[in-house]
Amino acid sequence: MSLLVVGSVAFDAIETPFGKTDKIIGGAATYISLSSSYFTEQVNLIAVVGEDFPKSDIELLESHGVDTEGLQIKKGEKSFFWSGKYHNDMNTRDTLVTELNVLGNFDPIVPEAYQDCEYLMLGNLSPKVQSTVISRLKKRPKLIVMDTMNFWMDIALDDLKETMTMVDVLSINDEEARQLSGEYSLVKASKKIMAMGPKYLIIKKGEHGALLFHGSKVFLAPALPLEEVFDPTGAGDTFAGGFIGYLASTNDISFENMKRAIIYGSAMASFCVEKFGTERISNLPEKELKSRVKEFIDLVQFEVTV
Ligand code: AMP
Repeated sequence: MSLLVVGSVAFDAIETPFGKTDKIIGGAATYISLSSSYFTEQVNLIAVVGEDFPKSDIELLESHGVDTEGLQIKKGEKSFFWSGKYHNDMNTRDTLVTELNVLGNFDPIVPEAYQDCEYLMLGNLSPKVQSTVISRLKKRPKLIVMDTMNFWMDIALDDLKETMTMVDVLSINDEEARQLSGEYSLVKASKKIMAMGPKYLIIKKGEHGALLFHGSKVFLAPALPLEEVFDPTGAGDTFAGGFIGYLASTNDISFENMKRAIIYGSAMASFCVEKFGTERISNLPEKELKSRVKEFIDLVQFEVTV
């Protein structure tokens, strides 16, 4: 099933207790596209970069079956740049720099070949751009998943709330769910957020896994307890890529299948954090993905008589 990914393609500079990087390839759409490419043959990408973005990084995406017709390259402009520093717990971070650059006035053009999109993943970027993409699709996709972050809650809350009315699934982290709802309890927060539009809500809790809410149903997926977390950057986007990639490849959007998709998303995210940036998910043998999913099954399987 055709999958369309929208989001930032960026330069990131990351600092963790284990080390520091110069500008490396990052961005929500980068992580989502790479991750979903392990499930679907072709991923269509809508994003924007500046003239400074290396051709080799675009080729990396293309080598994963990512179609870059919708990736605009703006002459004389600079790519989006984000820099973050992780605390010792590796679960929380400070954003040091957000330079929107080309993202500031991004007009997302939908190539004709992308119009058949059945699954739409709106990765993190301006909510106005996210809703523009939806409105430019002639046919509503079967499933629209949206990811966002506190940055947009702070500067574009009205646009964000409007875009939320147009999507099926919202994916955010626990801190963002609390900020958006004004509730500390994630169960109360989920009710308030689902009343704002999305019928499904995923709340990511870093090393504590992820929750999926739908009506009164709730599902909890663990995160794999890892000996070493090197760099959590992009884990949320990699999770989202695995989630929608699995749904698109199975073409089943039932709650039961979403549970499986969450496990696949969590497995992909567990790889992402093992190395800096996109390094680990750029080259992942299929066998390793399979055995990691098995580890997840073993982790939560138990027998009990009640
Ligand atoms: P995650 O760790 O999953 O929250 O995602 C990290 C990625 O989000 C980085 O690669 C950044 O380039 C990207 N990012 C950070 N801030 C923003 C923003 N305001 N809009 C779009 N993408 C962003």
